[in-house]
Amino acid sequence: MSHSVYVVGAGAAGMMAAITAARQGKKVTIIEHRDKAGKKILATGNGKCNFTNMYMDKECFRGSNNDYIMDIYNQFDNNAVIDFFKHLGIYPKIKNGYVYPNSGQAISISEALQNELRYLNVDIITNTNIRKIYDNKDGYLIITDKGEYKTDSVIIAAGSNASPKSGSDGSGYRLAKKLGHTIVPVLPALVQLRSSSPFFKEVAGVRTDGSVRIMSGRECVAKDSGELMLTDYGISGIPVFQVSRFASVLLNKNEKVIARLDFLPEMDFTECKEYIRDRIYSYPDKSIKDNFTGILNSKLLNALLKELKIDINMSTGNLSEKQIIDIANGFKNFSINITGTNSFDNAQVCCGGVSLDELTKNTLESKLHKGLFFAGEILDVDGICGGYNLQWAWSSGYVSGINC
Ligand SMILES: Cc1cc2nc3c(=O)[nH]c(=O)nc-3n(C[C@H](O)[C@H](O)[C@H](O)COP(=O)(O)OP(=O)(O)OC[C@H]3O[C@@H](n4cnc5c(N)ncnc54)[C@H](O)[C@@H]3O)c2cc1C
Repeated sequence: MSHSVYVVGAGAAGMMAAITAARQGKKVTIIEHRDKAGKKILATGNGKCNFTNMYMDKECFRGSNNDYIMDIYNQFDNNAVIDFFKHLGIYPKIKNGYVYPNSGQAISISEALQNELRYLNVDIITNTNIRKIYDNKDGYLIITDKGEYKTDSVIIAAGSNASPKSGSDGSGYRLAKKLGHTIVPVLPALVQLRSSSPFFKEVAGVRTDGSVRIMSGRECVAKDSGELMLTDYGISGIPVFQVSRFASVLLNKNEKVIARLDFLPEMDFTECKEYIRDRIYSYPDKSIKDNFTGILNSKLLNALLKELKIDINMSTGNLSEKQIIDIANGFKNFSINITGTNSFDNAQVCCGGVSLDELTKNTLESKLHKGLFFAGEILDVDGICGGYNLQWAWSSGYVSGINC
């Protein structure tokens, strides 16, 4: 009888693992606790599925062990992913390095994977909850609410806690933990940041280019720039998503987290002060409101000055030196106290997960149980926005599928 493999979870990583194992001649079954495979894929890239990126670097992936991550990535890199999907009929469309299916539909990716699973005779058992996985030394016993399954190898690809409505409800971590694996604290990442400051009620809805820095004491731990979205609860937008996992980690350690927003990143601080002085020199009698119209969104300018306790209707010529510096700081170093992140429901991914230290180098096989593998977001790996999380799902799915 051929070697049998059970994959837990029919998401991106689980389907890639199953296809890879089945192509090696293994008898593969996927157990999925939801009614359908590939639900999360449908929501990716705003429904367009940004499935990888042409730019790759160690820094695009985060976790406790970047060398381990890159050893896995290099076995099935972005070009291998593009070729894999081309072979399944997905013609790639590349926009600023971001790779999408040319159809502009995430469902194309999910269907291409499911068609290939059918072609390879991989069984998908849906609506089935796993109660426990036992390592019997000569194989594994999987106990579910629908019956028991014996198998030679198990790949756990059950995702994280992020976006639980798509099926990844954290139950994979519990299975891993019961098998003795260590879980690095799992926290929302690629997520909005919250602040209790009343300032945000005034600026809700403003979108502005800028940069965000996450500060731990005097140290900047992460920085990104692009379009910032100011909401009634705090900050959002791609730059905020990119730095959010660092805020999550600090908040989890009960550390004070400050986000510094720069609304004029194209000027340095000195240039900004000069700009303010120049406006004062040109029109000292004009109010601040009239003298600075056009530099920032008017709602944002109003709220910033209110925060600085400077009357927006006063003549600019009456501004003191301290007030000029305060305004420059408001434009370039606006500090907000971050009190939390949005919940797992809003997070695109999680940081933390099954520790890579307990996996054999290059294989994703457990050091604790021969024949047990992990793939995808369940691992202590998170990528930045831009197709890196799906790239990790494909790379880790492939490597676990080859080695199982
Ligand atoms: C809104 C949104 C947009 C995103 N956009 C992008 C993007 O454009 N590009 C990108 O690279 N990444 C994106 N991501 C992240 C990316 O989708 C995930 O990192 C990736 O899908 C993770 O794949 P996975 O297979 O590890 O987990 P999942 O896709 O979560 O799959 C896990 C599967 O396991 C099943 N499961 C869980 N527990 C069990 C259990 N106990 N028993 C049986 N089955 C179980 C789940 O139902 C699910 O089907 C986005 C995420 C979200 C939420």
